[in-house]
Amino acid sequence: MGKRIVILGGGTGGLVVANRLRRSLTRDNEIILIDKEKNHLLNPSLLWLMVGWREEIQIQKPLSLLERKGIRFINAPVLKLDFETKTVLTSQGDVSFDYLVISLGASTFPEKVPGFVEDAFDLYDLSGVKNIRKAIGNFEKGRIVILITSTPFKCPAAPYEAALILSEYFNRKRRDVDIEVVTPEPLPMPVAGPEVGNMVVSLLQRSGIRFTPQHQVLKIDPENKEISFQDEKKLSYDLLIGIPPHGLPPVLKDSPVLGESGWVKVNPKTLETDFRNIYAIGDVTSIPLPLGRPLPKAGVFAHFQAEVVSQHIEAKIKSSSSTKEFDGRGYCFIELGNGRAGYASGNFYADPKPMLKMKEPSALWHLAKVLFEKWWLWRWF
Ligand SMILES: Cc1cc2nc3c(=O)[nH]c(=O)nc-3n(C[C@H](O)[C@H](O)[C@H](O)COP(=O)(O)OP(=O)(O)OC[C@H]3O[C@@H](n4cnc5c(N)ncnc54)[C@H](O)[C@@H]3O)c2cc1C
Repeated sequence: MGKRIVILGGGTGGLVVANRLRRSLTRDNEIILIDKEKNHLLNPSLLWLMVGWREEIQIQKPLSLLERKGIRFINAPVLKLDFETKTVLTSQGDVSFDYLVISLGASTFPEKVPGFVEDAFDLYDLSGVKNIRKAIGNFEKGRIVILITSTPFKCPAAPYEAALILSEYFNRKRRDVDIEVVTPEPLPMPVAGPEVGNMVVSLLQRSGIRFTPQHQVLKIDPENKEISFQDEKKLSYDLLIGIPPHGLPPVLKDSPVLGESGWVKVNPKTLETDFRNIYAIGDVTSIPLPLGRPLPKAGVFAHFQAEVVSQHIEAKIKSSSSTKEFDGRGYCFIELGNGRAGYASGNFYADPKPMLKMKEPSALWHLAKVLFEKWWLWRWF
């Protein structure tokens, strides 16, 4: 008798698992993907949408298209998970499962920083990015602050890429705009190590972008356009772009699959939780690394972990053995906004610390990112 595999979340990780399993398993095995959103959104392209290099329609695909391949799509919020009865409760009814893949990502909570919702443009949200686009179109002169409110946040490079892209955008328009990135981090992308972090700082400096590390926001005062920090310093802005606090999707609150970190605990190699046949991948997990910090939250890891999990589920269903393990490898493009990008890659599981190399920025890496975007939206739909 066929099995039922339920995948929660049609973002980066969930999309790959659904596709991989549909290809490898016979049709008597049912594959169901559940997401509260109608569309899959390619997040890296949000930065290009921000400056008008993409339109909304170019960076999204309806998840219902997966039905053509034999993947059942349920467009509903997941309300509750019951591991005893192996049931997912949704607003459209209950769904039982034999195998479960939790790929619900990290949620954002802008309301946790007073003043954020009122006056900050949210870089991590589609409508927030569309509003940034409108606001910068009319922004002739002044100071833009890009504020990282807390760690961890997904794609540790994205706020820095946004700063570089915006700097180039205003240079081209010959507008007198100062850009500053403020963060609680000691260096950009701290898990990647000082070589990568210092390279990003020098890229910012070359573009005249101010970098202010180790600043933890307390509140935003929309009336006076001022940010207050924990150390009592204050910073004024004319336009504020924020990366909101991240956290566990509320549906997983108090779930037995959570670890001490407050995120889902998984086997770092197989991505299985402490519950048999229940896996979790991507941003919803926290995998501790030898250096003490967790694996960054990034699509590249959600993707590679999805490849491993689909192979494990396939092997279990076919009663064969799977040797595939997630090995901590990852890569990242860093867009500079001028038709060039940098590229960092390496092994995040390396002991005692991640081993990464950064390539000099070039037009080639930018082209690679553009090709990746096209490939992604073609490959999985
Ligand atoms: C601006 C930006 C740029 C980025 N650039 C890069 C990059 O260049 N490289 C890179 O590697 N990463 C990048 N990322 C990060 C990357 O997008 C994420 O790390 C990745 O999408 C995580 O995949 P995931 O499957 O874990 O979760 P997600 O892709 O976030 O998917 C989670 C899904 O779960 C759904 N969901 C959540 N809760 C519920 C619920 N209760 N019921 C039903 N559905 C629910 C959501 O709607 C969503 O579709 C970027 C992110 C941003 C915001």
